[in-house]
Amino acid sequence: MKYSALKGVHDIFPPDVYLWQDVEAAAREVFSAYGFQEFRAPIIESTDVFVRSIGETTDIVEKEMYTFTDRAGRSITLRPEGTAPVVRSYVEHHLYHLPAPQKFFYVGPMFRYERPQAGRFRQFHQIGAEAFGIDEPRIDAELLAMLRVFFERLGLEELNFEINSIGCEGCRPNFRKALRDFFSEKLDRFCPDCRRRYDQNPLRILDCKVEACRTLRDGAPRVTRFLCSACAEHFGTFQSYLQLLAIPFTLNPEMVRGLDYYTRTTFEVTTKHLGAQNAVAAGGRYDRLVEDFGGPPTPAIGFAMGIERIVALLRESGTTIIPSPVVFIATVGEYASKEGLAIAVRLRGRGIWTELGYAGHSLKSQLRRADRLSARYVLIVGEDEMRSGKVQWKRLADGSHGEMPFDEVDSFFMARAEP
Ligand code: ATP
Ligand code: MG
Repeated sequence: MKYSALKGVHDIFPPDVYLWQDVEAAAREVFSAYGFQEFRAPIIESTDVFVRSIGETTDIVEKEMYTFTDRAGRSITLRPEGTAPVVRSYVEHHLYHLPAPQKFFYVGPMFRYERPQAGRFRQFHQIGAEAFGIDEPRIDAELLAMLRVFFERLGLEELNFEINSIGCEGCRPNFRKALRDFFSEKLDRFCPDCRRRYDQNPLRILDCKVEACRTLRDGAPRVTRFLCSACAEHFGTFQSYLQLLAIPFTLNPEMVRGLDYYTRTTFEVTTKHLGAQNAVAAGGRYDRLVEDFGGPPTPAIGFAMGIERIVALLRESGTTIIPSPVVFIATVGEYASKEGLAIAVRLRGRGIWTELGYAGHSLKSQLRRADRLSARYVLIVGEDEMRSGKVQWKRLADGSHGEMPFDEVDSFFMARAEP
């Protein structure tokens, strides 16, 4: 019987996994400087957690969720995104009693039944951040500043920050009406999904990926014109902070984002390098969501980025990370092989990555392996060395070499373990 991974899901192993680790390490480093703490929410939730918050007429809820009935007949969904679970948990544990802001980040797999293609998978991974309790637009700007530092830390600089404001429930009704007026006479030419969205939630028509619907919405009213004065001021101030921080951005009044919970600020980080799947990070405010989950009014803002797409950018820019051992111990003969084992276990106990040559491999083939692994040092322990009580060492980078008594090996490498 032969097995293979399911369609749209991927195995991650060396050397790629080192890029993944670096992306995650960069997020941990940069986000902690901004006071974000790790949050680990479950991967499965009650289906309602997503349906109510993401919205019934969104692509995610309409066609992308992995939903199943468990043995007790409950409807369970594998999380398609990370915000709803964090908000569910935030409310469930009354975290709103803690002083604001509460800032969290998460790392982990998400699941969406999408058509697999470059940059679009069924299990994919996100790093996300959420900040609860702050209304003022400084925090919106701080999130973008944090994203910029994160991408710089990874050496990714040719990124575009697109921003928009989609208003609040005060301004949304006027915008909805203007959209319905605009779409009404050509409604029969839209896809069946959009025809349904027309009544339930016409904003969703702006996010439809069907080509015909895309063209039909040319010239549609733009949300920015409908912002109430409070939303317009919030958006204006946000932009002035981006200018203050010298964060270049472009206004994209057509960006509505694929989830219903967003209010006011929305943003995407896009790249020219990944073809059609050009968004590496996306987010926005969700000032109503905590209340929708039964908590007190709590403004909030967050984003999520796709790790696969960031790793693809790193690969494209030629970044490779392949760690190598500090020491390779080549041994010849039975006594030497025992001594080699003892030295290796001692060095490893001191945190020094040590590899061993194994029986059945000639000295030559052991040295070849040391070379392939790019070990920094090779130790040779053979019969002569056992007799003289000294090992030979060689530094592969420059060929320098020497010998030392067995009992100096630990201190020799302790002093040289750092690159
Ligand atoms: P897209 O427009 O690319 O479908 P989205 O609006 O569905 O994105 P979000 O739900 O905001 O995306 O997710 C944030 C980020 O997660 C995206 O910018 C992208 O980098 C990544 N992402 C989303 N869906 C997938 C997927 N199916 N496979 C890989 N990465 C994904
Ligand atoms: Mg999508």
